[in-house]
Parts: sequence; structure tokens; C-alpha cells
Amino acid sequence: MPKTIKKADLPTKICPSCKLPFTWRRKWQANWADVRYCSERCRREKRDKV
Ligand SMILES: [Zn+2]
Repeated sequence: MPKTIKKADLPTKICPSCKLPFTWRRKWQANWADVRYCSERCRREKRDKV
């Protein structure tokens, strides 16, 4: 049996910039623990308290 990850099993996080949940993506497989924002744009904005 192939080890396929179901979509429903993918981890999710809440983006602190846009407050929207986002799902694990393959490009983050190496650094998912460090991923905080859903996109590069949100990462640059970083407006969690302003
Ligand atoms: Zn975002």
C-alpha cells in the first residue's frame, strides 16, 4: 500500500496575518514547524499587533 496522505489528514495552521486557516503544502515539508504565514505576502506584512 502506498503511503498517501489524505487531504483531511493534512495539518493546518492559522495565519496570524490574515487570520485564515491554511493547509500543509509539499513545499513546506522540510520546514513546516517554522511556517507561520499562509503566503509570502502575509509573511512580509506581519501585522499581528499593529
Ligand atoms: Zn495569511
